[in-house]
Amino acid sequence: METLAPFKEVIDEVKEKGGQAVKFCYQCGKCDTVCPWNKVRKFSMRKLIREATFGLSEIEKEEIWRCTTCGKCPQRCPRDVKQIDDMVALRRMATGYGVYAGSVKPYRAIGTALASQGNPFNEDRKTRASWAEGLNVKTYKEGMEILYFPCCYCSYDPRLKKVAQATVNLLKKAKVDFGILGEKENCCGESIRKTGNEDLFKKLAKENIKTFIDFGVKKILVSSPHCYHTFKNEYPMFNVNFEVIHTSQFLLELVKQGRIKVSKEYDQKIAYHDPCYLGRHNNVYDEPRETLKNIPGVELKELPEAKEESLCCGMGGGRVWAETEKHERFSNIRVEQAIDAGAKVLATACPYCITALEDSRLVMNHADDIEVKDITEIFQEIT
Ligand code: SF4
Ligand code: SF4
Repeated sequence: METLAPFKEVIDEVKEKGGQAVKFCYQCGKCDTVCPWNKVRKFSMRKLIREATFGLSEIEKEEIWRCTTCGKCPQRCPRDVKQIDDMVALRRMATGYGVYAGSVKPYRAIGTALASQGNPFNEDRKTRASWAEGLNVKTYKEGMEILYFPCCYCSYDPRLKKVAQATVNLLKKAKVDFGILGEKENCCGESIRKTGNEDLFKKLAKENIKTFIDFGVKKILVSSPHCYHTFKNEYPMFNVNFEVIHTSQFLLELVKQGRIKVSKEYDQKIAYHDPCYLGRHNNVYDEPRETLKNIPGVELKELPEAKEESLCCGMGGGRVWAETEKHERFSNIRVEQAIDAGAKVLATACPYCITALEDSRLVMNHADDIEVKDITEIFQEIT
C-alpha cells in the first residue's frame, strides 16, 4: 500500500484535525451496511477507518472524498467513531498538500471562486441579486422581521432561481417585512468545509457574520438545509447565535397564522424526499410533511427510505462539485422509488437535492413521469 505521508504523521494529523475517534472502531461493518454508496458501487467506510487508525490512509486516492456526509452511518455506529469528522480530517490533510484526486479535481477551482466571488460558480459577486430583478425586493435593514438568505444555488442557478422567486412571492403575499443582502452575501461555507478547506470556511463565515452584525440581522430565513445547518450549528463557534428558520418551517408558521391562504386544490400524489441536512442532521422531519398536508387535494406518499432512513441524494460533503458517474448517482434510485410509490411530484426542500433529482429525472428519461419541486414552488401555485 502506497502512502504519501509517513504513518506517524498521518496518525498525528488525523488526531490534530479532529479525527481522533477512529481508534474506537471495532470493525463491525455496520457503516458499510447502511452506506448509500454500496447501492451503486463498492465502498468501505470500515476500511477507511481501519487505515486511518494505523496511519495508512491514502490521501492521494479518491476514496477519502466519497463520503457525502449523509449522516446515516454515524447514527448506526455502536462506538461513536464520528466517521464524518474523520473523513473531513483526512480531507484537511489532502487540502493542505494540495492533493485533489480524480473526480474532486474541480474543488481547487471552486475554492478559488469562493475566495474571490463568494460563490462556487465564479459568477460576478455584483450579480448575486439578479434573480430578484423585477420582484421589487428591498435590501435588508435593521428592524425588519427577517433576512432572506437564498444561498448560491438559488441566486445563480437558472433552475433554482425559481425557488428563490417562489419564496419571495410567498413572503409578499403573507406581507412579511423582509429584505435580502445581495452582493453583500457570501456562500455559507458548509460544503467547502466538508471538503477540508477549513481556512476558506472561516473566511466566508467571518465575512458573513460581520455583514449580519453590521446590518443588525437577528433572524435568517434560508432555502438551503446546508445554510441552515451551518448558521445554526457551526457559526456559534464564532460566538454568535442568529435565529435560523428554513422555508419549509416558516411556510407552516405562515399558514398556521393565517398569513398565507390556500386558494386552490392541488390534486396530486406527492412524495416528500427528506434532505440529509434538514432531516438526519437537524431532525426537521414533520414540518415539511405538515406543510404539504395542509394543501387540499394532496395525497402524500411516503418513500421506502424516509425520515431517519432517508436516502441521500449524493450531493452533500462537497460532492455537489465532484464528478459522479451517471450510473452511480443515488438520486437515480430516489426517482425510481418515487415513481414506484405512485407519486407524480417529488417534493423536497433543498437546492442540492433538486439539482440531483432533476438531473436523474432527465438522465433516466422520466421527464414525463414525475416532476421535482421545492415545497415553496408548490405553494406558489395554490395561493
Ligand atoms: S459502524 Fe463504527 S465501529 Fe462499526 S466498522 Fe463502522 S466505524 Fe467501526
Ligand atoms: S456518512 Fe453516509 S455517505 Fe458517508 S460513509 Fe456514512 S453512510 Fe456513507
